[in-house]
Amino acid sequence: MADIFKIAILPGDGIGPEVMKQAIKILEKIEKYITKKIVIDTYTVGGAAINLYGNPLPKKTLYGCEKSDAILFGSVGGSEWDYLPLNKRPEKGSLLKLRKHFNLFANIRPSFFYKDLSILSPLKEKILNKGFDIICIRELTGGIYFGLPNGRKGKGIDEYAFDTEIYSRFEIERIAHIAFNIALKRKKKICSIDKANVLNTSILWREVLTDISKQYISVKLEHMYIDNAVMQLMKNPSQFDVILCSNLFGDIISDQCAMISGSVGNLPSASFNQNYFGLYEPSGGSAPNIAGKNIANPIAQILSLAMLIEYSLKERNISQKIKNAIQKILNLGYRTKDLFTNSKNEKIITTDDMGTLIMESII
Ligand code: NAD
Repeated sequence: MADIFKIAILPGDGIGPEVMKQAIKILEKIEKYITKKIVIDTYTVGGAAINLYGNPLPKKTLYGCEKSDAILFGSVGGSEWDYLPLNKRPEKGSLLKLRKHFNLFANIRPSFFYKDLSILSPLKEKILNKGFDIICIRELTGGIYFGLPNGRKGKGIDEYAFDTEIYSRFEIERIAHIAFNIALKRKKKICSIDKANVLNTSILWREVLTDISKQYISVKLEHMYIDNAVMQLMKNPSQFDVILCSNLFGDIISDQCAMISGSVGNLPSASFNQNYFGLYEPSGGSAPNIAGKNIANPIAQILSLAMLIEYSLKERNISQKIKNAIQKILNLGYRTKDLFTNSKNEKIITTDDMGTLIMESII
Protein backbone atom coordinates (compact mmCIF):
# COMPACT_ATOMS: atom_id res chain seq x y z
CA MET A 1 0.00 0.00 0.00
CA ALA A 2 1.50 3.32 -1.09
CA ASP A 3 2.16 6.07 1.46
CA ILE A 4 -0.63 8.60 1.70
CA PHE A 5 -0.02 12.26 0.86
CA LYS A 6 -2.78 14.62 1.99
CA ILE A 7 -3.43 17.93 0.24
CA ALA A 8 -5.68 20.56 1.80
CA ILE A 9 -7.48 22.43 -0.99
CA LEU A 10 -8.56 25.98 -0.09
CA PRO A 11 -10.23 27.57 -3.15
CA GLY A 12 -11.23 30.87 -1.45
CA ASP A 13 -12.94 33.77 -3.20
CA GLY A 14 -13.32 35.49 -6.57
CA ILE A 15 -11.61 33.50 -9.31
CA GLY A 16 -10.15 31.12 -6.68
CA PRO A 17 -12.78 28.35 -7.04
CA GLU A 18 -12.81 28.62 -10.89
CA VAL A 19 -9.06 28.23 -11.28
CA MET A 20 -8.79 25.64 -8.50
CA LYS A 21 -11.28 23.45 -10.39
CA GLN A 22 -8.78 23.34 -13.27
CA ALA A 23 -5.86 22.43 -10.97
CA ILE A 24 -7.92 19.54 -9.57
CA LYS A 25 -8.58 18.26 -13.12
CA ILE A 26 -4.81 18.15 -13.61
CA LEU A 27 -4.24 16.44 -10.27
CA GLU A 28 -6.79 13.75 -11.12
CA LYS A 29 -4.99 13.16 -14.42
CA ILE A 30 -1.47 12.89 -12.99
CA GLU A 31 -2.10 11.10 -9.71
CA LYS A 32 -1.54 7.74 -11.38
CA TYR A 33 2.10 8.73 -12.01
CA ILE A 34 2.74 9.70 -8.37
CA THR A 35 4.26 7.06 -6.12
CA LYS A 36 2.21 8.15 -3.09
CA LYS A 37 -1.57 7.86 -2.84
CA ILE A 38 -3.02 11.38 -3.03
CA VAL A 39 -5.92 12.30 -0.75
CA ILE A 40 -7.52 15.71 -1.14
CA ASP A 41 -9.88 17.51 1.23
CA THR A 42 -11.49 20.84 0.39
CA TYR A 43 -11.97 23.53 3.06
CA THR A 44 -13.66 26.93 3.13
CA VAL A 45 -11.46 30.01 3.60
CA GLY A 46 -11.50 33.80 3.27
CA GLY A 47 -14.66 35.71 2.44
CA ALA A 48 -16.52 32.49 1.62
CA ALA A 49 -15.83 31.30 5.19
CA ILE A 50 -16.90 34.67 6.63
CA ASN A 51 -20.23 34.31 4.83
CA LEU A 52 -20.74 30.75 6.06
CA TYR A 53 -19.18 30.77 9.54
CA GLY A 54 -18.40 34.43 10.37
CA ASN A 55 -14.66 33.57 10.44
CA PRO A 56 -12.16 33.78 7.52
CA LEU A 57 -10.17 30.84 8.94
CA PRO A 58 -12.61 28.46 10.64
CA LYS A 59 -11.22 25.88 13.09
CA LYS A 60 -12.16 23.06 10.73
CA THR A 61 -10.06 24.63 7.94
CA LEU A 62 -7.05 25.20 10.18
CA TYR A 63 -7.29 21.68 11.59
CA GLY A 64 -7.61 20.26 8.05
CA CYS A 65 -4.43 22.11 7.03
CA GLU A 66 -2.60 20.87 10.14
CA LYS A 67 -3.28 17.25 9.30
CA SER A 68 -2.28 17.70 5.65
CA ASP A 69 1.14 17.39 4.03
CA ALA A 70 0.71 20.52 1.88
CA ILE A 71 -1.81 23.29 1.21
CA LEU A 72 -3.00 24.31 -2.25
CA PHE A 73 -4.50 27.77 -1.84
CA GLY A 74 -6.61 29.73 -4.36
CA SER A 75 -6.99 33.37 -3.43
CA VAL A 76 -9.06 35.39 -0.99
CA GLY A 77 -10.59 38.84 -0.71
CA GLY A 78 -12.99 41.24 -2.32
CA SER A 79 -14.70 44.56 -1.61
CA GLU A 80 -17.72 42.69 -0.19
CA TRP A 81 -15.76 42.30 3.08
CA ASP A 82 -14.20 45.80 3.19
CA TYR A 83 -16.62 46.84 5.95
CA LEU A 84 -14.84 44.48 8.40
CA PRO A 85 -11.89 45.54 10.58
CA LEU A 86 -8.54 44.71 8.91
CA ASN A 87 -7.83 41.67 11.15
CA LYS A 88 -11.15 40.06 10.28
CA ARG A 89 -10.94 40.59 6.52
CA PRO A 90 -10.18 37.61 4.25
CA GLU A 91 -6.47 38.30 3.56
CA LYS A 92 -5.28 39.21 7.05
CA GLY A 93 -7.74 36.90 8.76
CA SER A 94 -6.85 33.78 6.77
CA LEU A 95 -3.77 33.89 4.53
CA LEU A 96 -1.56 35.91 6.88
CA LYS A 97 -2.77 33.79 9.82
CA LEU A 98 -1.88 30.60 7.97
CA ARG A 99 1.59 31.98 7.16
CA LYS A 100 2.08 32.82 10.84
CA HIS A 101 0.57 29.59 12.18
CA PHE A 102 2.82 27.39 10.04
CA ASN A 103 5.79 29.77 10.30
CA LEU A 104 6.10 30.01 6.52
CA PHE A 105 9.20 32.19 6.46
CA ALA A 106 10.44 31.42 2.93
CA ASN A 107 8.48 32.72 -0.04
CA ILE A 108 9.49 31.30 -3.42
CA ARG A 109 8.29 33.02 -6.58
CA PRO A 110 9.43 31.78 -9.98
CA SER A 111 9.22 34.33 -12.81
CA PHE A 112 9.66 33.41 -16.45
CA PHE A 113 8.10 34.20 -19.78
CA TYR A 114 6.67 32.05 -22.53
CA LYS A 115 8.33 32.89 -25.84
CA ASP A 116 5.01 33.30 -27.67
CA LEU A 117 3.90 35.82 -25.03
CA SER A 118 6.96 38.05 -24.96
CA ILE A 119 4.86 40.91 -26.36
CA LEU A 120 3.07 41.08 -22.98
CA SER A 121 6.32 42.02 -21.26
CA PRO A 122 7.33 45.69 -21.00
CA LEU A 123 10.91 44.64 -21.84
CA LYS A 124 12.20 44.55 -25.42
CA GLU A 125 12.14 41.14 -27.10
CA LYS A 126 15.90 41.25 -27.74
CA ILE A 127 16.51 41.56 -23.96
CA LEU A 128 14.01 38.82 -23.06
CA ASN A 129 15.35 36.47 -25.69
CA LYS A 130 18.66 36.30 -23.81
CA GLY A 131 16.62 34.44 -21.16
CA PHE A 132 14.37 35.24 -18.24
CA ASP A 133 13.87 32.42 -15.74
CA ILE A 134 14.34 33.56 -12.17
CA ILE A 135 13.38 32.26 -8.75
CA CYS A 136 12.96 35.04 -6.24
CA ILE A 137 13.28 33.90 -2.62
CA ARG A 138 11.90 36.36 -0.10
CA GLU A 139 12.21 36.16 3.69
CA LEU A 140 8.58 36.46 4.74
CA THR A 141 8.22 36.61 8.51
CA GLY A 142 10.95 39.02 9.66
CA GLY A 143 12.55 42.35 8.81
CA ILE A 144 10.97 45.77 8.80
CA TYR A 145 7.38 44.47 8.39
CA PHE A 146 7.46 42.90 11.85
CA GLY A 147 10.33 44.65 13.68
CA LEU A 148 9.51 46.46 16.94
CA PRO A 149 9.31 49.21 17.98
CA ASN A 150 7.20 50.84 15.32
CA GLY A 151 4.58 53.52 15.45
CA ARG A 152 3.88 57.24 15.42
CA LYS A 153 4.61 59.84 18.07
CA GLY A 154 4.38 63.55 18.62
CA LYS A 155 2.05 66.17 17.23
CA GLY A 156 1.97 68.85 14.53
CA ILE A 157 5.35 69.65 12.99
CA ASP A 158 7.04 67.42 15.62
CA GLU A 159 5.04 64.31 14.64
CA TYR A 160 7.18 61.40 13.46
CA ALA A 161 6.79 57.76 12.47
CA PHE A 162 9.24 54.87 12.73
CA ASP A 163 9.74 51.22 11.79
CA THR A 164 12.48 48.83 12.81
CA GLU A 165 14.41 46.61 10.40
CA ILE A 166 15.69 43.68 12.45
CA TYR A 167 17.20 40.33 11.42
CA SER A 168 18.82 37.71 13.60
CA ARG A 169 21.63 35.42 12.46
CA PHE A 170 19.17 32.50 12.90
CA GLU A 171 16.59 34.06 10.54
CA ILE A 172 19.20 34.79 7.87
CA GLU A 173 20.79 31.33 8.14
CA ARG A 174 17.51 29.44 7.69
CA ILE A 175 16.45 31.40 4.57
CA ALA A 176 20.01 31.06 3.23
CA HIS A 177 19.83 27.25 3.47
CA ILE A 178 16.54 27.26 1.52
CA ALA A 179 18.13 29.43 -1.18
CA PHE A 180 21.29 27.35 -1.48
CA ASN A 181 19.28 24.11 -1.69
CA ILE A 182 17.15 25.54 -4.50
CA ALA A 183 20.25 26.90 -6.27
CA LEU A 184 21.83 23.43 -6.13
CA LYS A 185 18.96 22.13 -8.31
CA ARG A 186 19.28 24.99 -10.82
CA LYS A 187 22.26 26.91 -12.23
CA LYS A 188 24.13 26.86 -8.90
CA LYS A 189 24.25 30.62 -8.50
CA ILE A 190 22.62 33.02 -6.05
CA CYS A 191 22.44 36.78 -6.16
CA SER A 192 21.79 38.08 -2.64
CA ILE A 193 20.24 41.55 -2.57
CA ASP A 194 20.99 44.02 0.21
CA LYS A 195 21.92 47.59 1.03
CA ALA A 196 25.10 46.81 2.92
CA ASN A 197 26.56 50.24 2.12
CA VAL A 198 23.94 51.81 4.44
CA LEU A 199 22.06 49.29 6.63
CA ASN A 200 23.39 47.31 9.59
CA THR A 201 20.93 44.48 8.92
CA SER A 202 22.32 44.21 5.39
CA ILE A 203 25.91 44.02 6.68
CA LEU A 204 24.92 41.09 8.92
CA TRP A 205 22.90 39.58 6.03
CA ARG A 206 25.98 39.69 3.78
CA GLU A 207 28.28 38.24 6.48
CA VAL A 208 25.93 35.35 7.26
CA LEU A 209 25.38 34.55 3.57
CA THR A 210 29.13 34.50 3.01
CA ASP A 211 29.57 32.13 6.00
CA ILE A 212 26.80 29.78 4.87
CA SER A 213 28.14 29.71 1.31
CA LYS A 214 31.19 27.81 2.61
CA GLN A 215 28.86 24.82 3.17
CA TYR A 216 27.79 24.93 -0.51
CA ILE A 217 31.05 25.31 -2.38
CA SER A 218 29.52 24.38 -5.76
CA VAL A 219 27.16 27.39 -5.59
CA LYS A 220 28.44 30.80 -6.68
CA LEU A 221 27.26 33.55 -4.33
CA GLU A 222 27.13 37.15 -5.53
CA HIS A 223 26.00 40.21 -3.55
CA MET A 224 24.23 43.17 -5.15
CA TYR A 225 22.81 46.41 -3.77
CA ILE A 226 19.05 46.68 -4.21
CA ASP A 227 19.29 49.91 -6.25
CA ASN A 228 21.66 48.28 -8.71
CA ALA A 229 19.59 45.05 -8.77
CA VAL A 230 16.40 46.79 -9.95
CA MET A 231 18.39 48.40 -12.79
CA GLN A 232 20.17 45.18 -13.74
CA LEU A 233 16.82 43.35 -13.87
CA MET A 234 15.59 45.76 -16.52
CA LYS A 235 18.88 45.82 -18.43
CA ASN A 236 19.78 42.14 -18.48
CA PRO A 237 17.56 39.77 -16.47
CA SER A 238 19.36 36.76 -17.97
CA GLN A 239 22.25 37.33 -15.54
CA PHE A 240 20.01 36.21 -12.62
CA ASP A 241 18.93 32.71 -11.62
CA VAL A 242 18.15 32.57 -7.87
CA ILE A 243 17.64 35.95 -6.19
CA LEU A 244 17.58 36.04 -2.38
CA CYS A 245 16.08 39.02 -0.52
CA SER A 246 14.90 40.29 2.83
CA ASN A 247 11.16 40.79 3.32
CA LEU A 248 11.10 44.42 2.12
CA PHE A 249 13.46 44.07 -0.86
CA GLY A 250 11.77 40.79 -1.87
CA ASP A 251 8.34 42.41 -1.82
CA ILE A 252 9.52 44.95 -4.38
CA ILE A 253 11.75 42.82 -6.56
CA SER A 254 9.32 39.86 -6.84
CA ASP A 255 6.70 42.23 -8.24
CA GLN A 256 9.25 43.68 -10.64
CA CYS A 257 10.00 40.14 -11.83
CA ALA A 258 6.25 39.43 -12.20
CA MET A 259 5.86 42.56 -14.32
CA ILE A 260 8.74 41.55 -16.59
CA SER A 261 7.02 38.21 -17.21
CA GLY A 262 4.02 40.11 -18.57
CA SER A 263 1.12 38.29 -16.94
CA VAL A 264 0.38 37.76 -13.25
CA GLY A 265 -2.08 35.04 -14.27
CA ASN A 266 0.86 32.78 -15.19
CA LEU A 267 2.91 32.98 -12.00
CA PRO A 268 2.76 30.55 -9.08
CA SER A 269 4.34 30.83 -5.62
CA ALA A 270 5.16 28.73 -2.59
CA SER A 271 5.86 29.46 1.06
CA PHE A 272 7.80 27.04 3.26
CA ASN A 273 8.69 26.53 6.87
CA GLN A 274 11.77 24.87 8.33
CA ASN A 275 10.37 21.38 7.61
CA TYR A 276 9.54 22.30 4.01
CA PHE A 277 5.81 22.20 4.79
CA GLY A 278 4.45 24.33 1.94
CA LEU A 279 1.51 26.52 1.03
CA TYR A 280 1.22 26.90 -2.74
CA GLU A 281 -0.79 29.69 -4.37
CA PRO A 282 -0.98 31.90 -7.47
CA SER A 283 1.00 35.16 -7.24
CA GLY A 284 -2.07 37.24 -8.11
CA GLY A 285 -5.19 37.92 -6.08
CA SER A 286 -8.87 36.96 -6.31
CA ALA A 287 -9.49 39.24 -9.34
CA PRO A 288 -13.12 40.10 -8.39
CA ASN A 289 -13.43 42.14 -11.62
CA ILE A 290 -13.45 38.94 -13.70
CA ALA A 291 -14.79 36.40 -11.17
CA GLY A 292 -17.66 34.13 -12.23
CA LYS A 293 -17.17 34.85 -15.95
CA ASN A 294 -15.14 31.75 -16.83
CA ILE A 295 -12.40 33.97 -18.33
CA ALA A 296 -9.68 33.84 -15.62
CA ASN A 297 -6.31 32.37 -16.47
CA PRO A 298 -5.85 29.10 -14.51
CA ILE A 299 -2.13 28.69 -15.38
CA ALA A 300 -0.82 30.23 -12.12
CA GLN A 301 -3.01 27.85 -10.10
CA ILE A 302 -1.97 24.85 -12.20
CA LEU A 303 1.70 25.83 -11.85
CA SER A 304 1.19 26.17 -8.08
CA LEU A 305 0.13 22.52 -8.13
CA ALA A 306 3.23 21.75 -10.25
CA MET A 307 5.38 23.43 -7.57
CA LEU A 308 3.67 21.34 -4.87
CA ILE A 309 4.47 18.21 -6.84
CA GLU A 310 8.09 19.29 -7.29
CA TYR A 311 8.87 20.59 -3.78
CA SER A 312 6.54 18.67 -1.43
CA LEU A 313 6.14 15.40 -3.32
CA LYS A 314 9.67 15.59 -4.79
CA GLU A 315 8.35 14.35 -8.15
CA ARG A 316 10.21 16.70 -10.47
CA ASN A 317 9.48 14.75 -13.65
CA ILE A 318 5.74 14.85 -13.09
CA SER A 319 5.88 18.55 -12.36
CA GLN A 320 7.74 18.95 -15.66
CA LYS A 321 4.99 17.02 -17.49
CA ILE A 322 2.50 19.70 -16.38
CA LYS A 323 4.82 22.52 -17.44
CA ASN A 324 5.33 20.88 -20.84
CA ALA A 325 1.56 20.55 -21.34
CA ILE A 326 1.07 24.27 -20.61
CA GLN A 327 3.84 25.17 -23.05
CA LYS A 328 2.25 22.96 -25.72
CA ILE A 329 -1.19 24.57 -25.38
CA LEU A 330 0.30 28.07 -25.53
CA ASN A 331 2.37 27.09 -28.58
CA LEU A 332 -0.86 26.02 -30.27
CA GLY A 333 -2.17 29.57 -29.78
CA TYR A 334 -4.77 28.94 -27.06
CA ARG A 335 -5.13 31.97 -24.77
CA THR A 336 -7.32 33.10 -21.93
CA LYS A 337 -8.37 36.71 -22.43
CA ASP A 338 -5.50 38.19 -20.36
CA LEU A 339 -2.93 36.47 -22.60
CA PHE A 340 -4.45 37.54 -25.92
CA THR A 341 -1.93 39.56 -27.95
CA ASN A 342 -3.95 39.87 -31.15
CA SER A 343 -1.45 38.00 -33.23
CA LYS A 344 -2.48 35.47 -35.85
CA ASN A 345 -3.24 31.85 -34.83
CA GLU A 346 -4.45 32.93 -31.38
CA LYS A 347 -7.77 31.62 -30.07
CA ILE A 348 -9.42 32.99 -26.93
CA ILE A 349 -10.75 30.21 -24.74
CA THR A 350 -12.48 29.95 -21.36
CA THR A 351 -10.95 29.05 -17.99
CA ASP A 352 -12.61 25.63 -18.20
CA ASP A 353 -11.35 24.94 -21.71
CA MET A 354 -7.81 25.99 -20.80
CA GLY A 355 -7.86 23.55 -17.86
CA THR A 356 -9.22 20.72 -20.00
CA LEU A 357 -6.77 21.31 -22.87
CA ILE A 358 -3.79 21.34 -20.50
CA MET A 359 -5.09 18.21 -18.76
CA GLU A 360 -5.53 16.41 -22.08
CA SER A 361 -2.01 17.38 -23.20
CA ILE A 362 -0.26 15.78 -20.26
CA ILE A 363 1.60 12.72 -21.45
P1 NAD B 1 -5.54 40.92 -8.40
O1 NAD B 1 -4.27 40.17 -8.59
O2 NAD B 1 -6.69 40.13 -7.88
O3 NAD B 1 -5.98 41.60 -9.77
C1 NAD B 1 -5.13 42.52 -10.47
C2 NAD B 1 -5.43 42.44 -11.97
O4 NAD B 1 -4.91 41.23 -12.49
C3 NAD B 1 -6.93 42.44 -12.27
O5 NAD B 1 -7.16 43.15 -13.47
C4 NAD B 1 -7.26 40.98 -12.48
O6 NAD B 1 -8.37 40.77 -13.34
C5 NAD B 1 -5.96 40.46 -13.09
N1 NAD B 1 -5.73 39.05 -12.75
C6 NAD B 1 -5.27 38.52 -11.60
N2 NAD B 1 -5.21 37.19 -11.67
C7 NAD B 1 -5.68 36.86 -12.90
C8 NAD B 1 -5.88 35.63 -13.57
N3 NAD B 1 -5.60 34.46 -13.00
N4 NAD B 1 -6.38 35.66 -14.83
C9 NAD B 1 -6.64 36.82 -15.44
N5 NAD B 1 -6.47 38.02 -14.87
C10 NAD B 1 -6.00 38.04 -13.61
O7 NAD B 1 -5.21 42.14 -7.42
P2 NAD B 1 -6.17 43.23 -6.77
O8 NAD B 1 -7.21 43.67 -7.77
O9 NAD B 1 -5.26 44.23 -6.19
O10 NAD B 1 -6.90 42.49 -5.56
C11 NAD B 1 -8.19 41.89 -5.66
C12 NAD B 1 -8.48 41.18 -4.35
O11 NAD B 1 -7.52 40.11 -4.17
C13 NAD B 1 -8.35 42.08 -3.13
O12 NAD B 1 -9.39 41.77 -2.23
C14 NAD B 1 -7.00 41.70 -2.55
O13 NAD B 1 -6.97 41.90 -1.15
C15 NAD B 1 -6.96 40.22 -2.88
N6 NAD B 1 -5.60 39.64 -2.96
C16 NAD B 1 -5.49 38.37 -2.51
C17 NAD B 1 -4.27 37.74 -2.61
C18 NAD B 1 -4.17 36.32 -2.14
O14 NAD B 1 -5.18 35.70 -1.86
N7 NAD B 1 -2.97 35.77 -2.07
C19 NAD B 1 -3.17 38.39 -3.16
C20 NAD B 1 -3.33 39.69 -3.66
C21 NAD B 1 -4.57 40.31 -3.55
